[in-house]
Amino acid sequence: MKKFINLPEDVVEEMLQGLAVLHPGSARLAGHKVMIRANVNETRNHQVALLSGGGSGHEPAHAGYIGDGMLSGAVLGEVFTSPSSDSVFAGIKAVAGKPGALLVVKNYTGDRLNFGLAAEMARAEGIPVEMVIVDDDVALKGKGKAAGARGLAGTVLIHKLLGAAAREGRSLADLTKIGKAAVAALATMGVSFSAGTSPAVGKPSFVLGEQEMELGLGIHGEPGVLRAELQPANQLIETLLGEILKLGQFDDRKRVAVMLNNLGATTEMELAVVASPIVSFLTNKGYTVERIYAGTFLSSLDMAGISISILGLNDEWLRWLDAATSAPAWPNVSKQKPGRAEAELSAERHTAGTQPVIKGASTELGKKTRRAIEAACQALIHAEGTLTELDRITGDGDLGSNMERAAMAVQHELGTYPLDCVASTLKALGHTLRRELGGSSGPLYGILFLRCGSALEGSSPAGLPQWAYALDQGCRAISELGGAKPGDRTMLDALDPFVKALQEHAKEWSPREAVQTATAAAERGVAATAQMMPALGRSSYLGDRVLGHPDPGAKAVAVWLRASCESLFGG
Ligand code: ADP
Ligand code: MG
Repeated sequence: MKKFINLPEDVVEEMLQGLAVLHPGSARLAGHKVMIRANVNETRNHQVALLSGGGSGHEPAHAGYIGDGMLSGAVLGEVFTSPSSDSVFAGIKAVAGKPGALLVVKNYTGDRLNFGLAAEMARAEGIPVEMVIVDDDVALKGKGKAAGARGLAGTVLIHKLLGAAAREGRSLADLTKIGKAAVAALATMGVSFSAGTSPAVGKPSFVLGEQEMELGLGIHGEPGVLRAELQPANQLIETLLGEILKLGQFDDRKRVAVMLNNLGATTEMELAVVASPIVSFLTNKGYTVERIYAGTFLSSLDMAGISISILGLNDEWLRWLDAATSAPAWPNVSKQKPGRAEAELSAERHTAGTQPVIKGASTELGKKTRRAIEAACQALIHAEGTLTELDRITGDGDLGSNMERAAMAVQHELGTYPLDCVASTLKALGHTLRRELGGSSGPLYGILFLRCGSALEGSSPAGLPQWAYALDQGCRAISELGGAKPGDRTMLDALDPFVKALQEHAKEWSPREAVQTATAAAERGVAATAQMMPALGRSSYLGDRVLGHPDPGAKAVAVWLRASCESLFGG
């Protein structure tokens, strides 16, 4: 287990100190693992206090929802452990005034017992207290389990509705009724690819195979209701939403809010990937998605999973969802319907005054040019594995797939290049690579071929000396843009020896011999990079750890140089 902790037994205590630092609107209740609104004394006699809580490990729940318009306080237990009734009782006394307190409790036996007992203790002292139990887990609904369904991330939506309603001055009885109605209109289903690791235990609470996922999971490391084979994201979303809608809870509630919750270790990228299929699935089923919220709302430590919660809406509830709150973990931004997945603004693609170009190859030169570019593309696609591996060792591992993708884009666009004119073709090639290649290589290849194309203008057909000159200009452009010189362990260490050899032999030797010698020089250049210290690019962060491995960018240059030269002059 690797975690940013000191001693496992101090985690909750130290987290409380941190929460007080991070959220100046909340304060620690002395002597208890309870956080309350710092200004609770200003509001306690004007509105019903809203108190929630439970075991820790679900951050930002629940302390992150303390604020004006949401919770008055949160009672924290140890990781995945219900807080004691003492703490809950102290919490109630700290936040409740004359209008009383409403406890929002997730349906777990420990929480029910401790919050229930504390409520009773408070009532015995004359404090009006009611409880709303959240049991939004559809995986266990109607399964005849005595404990009933669990409380999951949907609880946060209940906090939001009730928090806004409480601030509007609703009575305790009203709020209890609203809370129960909202829970009845709420459903959550989760899926996980791996379990979280509790600091005290030190290892994941269950282990899944490479191709397995756990459906209908809880948030305390307990396994789900079904272990199934991994599904692609779109299909998985349909599975989850299918389970949620199956219970018929939303048949006559066609307006819904969706909460897409990260259970701890899911990336923002994955949340965004699943957001759009969620909205389209629901829309296709006739629902109006009024709001969608995505983020970490109620986690289960570092579980790699998500849950989807659906809340049926009416106008008033929607207004409460939209009401502003100072709670730090509530996303105040989403007060709009979801956007459209296909929405895009068109960018100006064509510059005024560009010359009309003749596409394709009608001359022998054009056909040779096409064959040379095709050979280069095929060679780069073939070298994907080698380049990926080299860039993985010495960079970030993307060069192989980027080159492959760019080569495929060139193949696709080749027919639109003005192939009879080599200079224009090189420029077109530069534009494709600039757009499609990405990384550092994209702009460098872009400038290489743009400059090269410009240098060849007016010399058609170009002989080897002109090519040597044009490529030399291209290398200079790379140096100007990226700051590298030969010897810095970059693509220049393949290009530069090639150009030097061409310059030296182009006039006296046969083109074939000159090009073969130049290609061999480029390959020697690649080999030499294995002993060069990286001065630029990502490799430079690795320092001498890259020694012994050639530079991937230089290797890529040698690959396409050899392929295109052999296509033009034979091997
Ligand atoms: P990154 O992923 O680091 O953005 P790429 O994977 O696209 O870059 O390309 C890595 C290659 O780019 C390196 O192997 C090196 O040959 C080349 N490179 C990096 N920086 C420069 C530079 N300033 N000038 C020339 N080539 C460079
Ligand atoms: Mg890279």
